[in-house]
This record gives sequence, structure tokens and C-alpha cells, in this order.
Amino acid sequence: MKAHEAVVALKLDTPIKFEAYARAEANAGRKEMLDFFHGEKNLRAFIKKVEHFESSPELLERSTRPKLDLLFLACSKPCVCDGRWIPAAEEILHQNGILSSYFKERVALNLAKVPKKGLAVFLYGPTTCAKSWLLNPLILIFKCFVSQQAGSSFQLAGLPGKEVVILHEFEMSDKGVDVNTLKLWWGGEPFGIGTSKAFSEENEDHTPTAPIFGTAPEAPYHRNKLQRDMLARRICPFTFWKTIPEEEVKDIPDCPCCFAKWIVDANPGLFEHLKERAD
Ligand SMILES: [Zn+2]
Repeated sequence: MKAHEAVVALKLDTPIKFEAYARAEANAGRKEMLDFFHGEKNLRAFIKKVEHFESSPELLERSTRPKLDLLFLACSKPCVCDGRWIPAAEEILHQNGILSSYFKERVALNLAKVPKKGLAVFLYGPTTCAKSWLLNPLILIFKCFVSQQAGSSFQLAGLPGKEVVILHEFEMSDKGVDVNTLKLWWGGEPFGIGTSKAFSEENEDHTPTAPIFGTAPEAPYHRNKLQRDMLARRICPFTFWKTIPEEEVKDIPDCPCCFAKWIVDANPGLFEHLKERAD
């Protein structure tokens, strides 16, 4: 039995119940649950997540699947762009002097892991250089947390349960998420999600699991250089400068199939085991 199955089947709805079960299992010579117990930084959040997904077995199954599996599955979706997405993406990266193999490697690496320093893929540059267009297919492949507004004045409450984060036109602002929360979030550390100010019970720590992608006019600016440097260390940046006449890309549909193939084909080592299974 896996940890999430035990939570549901045995109604382990508190960390104490889970620990008792894990210790009983360990006494019977099965250490898997105790290892899980010691390895899970935020057991309460894990239990909540399992309970949240319990009502939908399909979602639960999905929530425990690696992101790379989901990306690989998207390769078998129908192409909706008539084969135009990949050449356009390659052209955009080339025009901006970005090595496409490196870009695709960093996208795959980010999707393969939970948030950690240096992994978040950010695309910097003016608004008309197709940065968002490059990331849009992710929204059709994953359950995404998407912040639409500039100025980062979005709510984090919608974060739990999302598979991938996309922050469009991210900028630091006094109204937005504070710098300490950003440092924890982008560094993969638990942080207070503040779903409700009235009930401190609800204000629980969220351990980030969704890889972070973003676009921004420039690197997030904080007046304090130390803070600025700490944010920079959490990001893998790509700088775009070549503006593209909008009509050149806007009629190419976001194609989840081509995006997925583009990333999968560039990273054969990461997907070898999935290809073997599919054959
Ligand atoms: Zn396509």
C-alpha cells in the first residue's frame, strides 16, 4: 500500500494517526511508511491533499504521476498547428540568440523536479517578443496556476493541487506577494499560503510541488540588493530582446502535442523509460 492509499483506506486523517500506523508497520518489518513519514516535510498538507483528491480517483492518480509522464502522454494528442509550432519556436529562440537545446533541457529539468533554487524558468524581455506564446502550451498539458495580472497582485490560495505555475509579466510590488514568501516558494520551502486571514487554522504551510515558469520585463527588482540576488539565485533566466510583429505568431495555435514532442525529443535520457513502456 502506498502512503496516499493508506490515508484513504485507513482514514489516517491526522499526522498522529499516520505516525502510529507508520510505526506499527515498521515494527512488523515494513519500513516504507516510516521512511515516508520522516521524509515528508509537511504531513498535514499531504493528508489534506489526499483527502481533497479522494473524491476524484482520476485526479488522485494524476496527482501522483510525475510531470514528465504527463508531458510524454501529451505527445500522442492530435497536432492542432499543422506542424507550424516547432519551427516558429525554434526561430524565436534563434533570433534571440538562445540555444534551443539548452532552453528545452531547462524546461524538462524544471518539469522533472519540485521547485528548488535555480530551476524556475523565467523569460525576460519586452511584451512583444512571444515569451508567453512559448509557454502557453503548458496550460493545455497541465493543471496550471496562472497569474494573469502584472504587479503580482494575485492570490496564492489557488496554488494547492496545481501541477505547474505560470506567472505572466511578473513584477515585484508592495501589493503583491512579499519577498520572503517568494524566496521560500521559489526555493521549494514551505510557506504560509494565507487562504483566509480570519481562521489561522486555514493559514497552513504549503509545500510547493508545482514547477514555476514565468515571464517578466526584467529580473524581479527589489530595492535591497541582497534580496534581489537571493531571488536571482532561484531563477534560470532567458533574455529575449527581439520583438516579433504580433501577426507572425498569433495565428499559430498553442499546440500541446508539438510542444511536448519538442521537449521530449530534445531530452531522450529523461524519457527513455517511458518510451520503453510505450513500445
Ligand atoms: Zn502541432
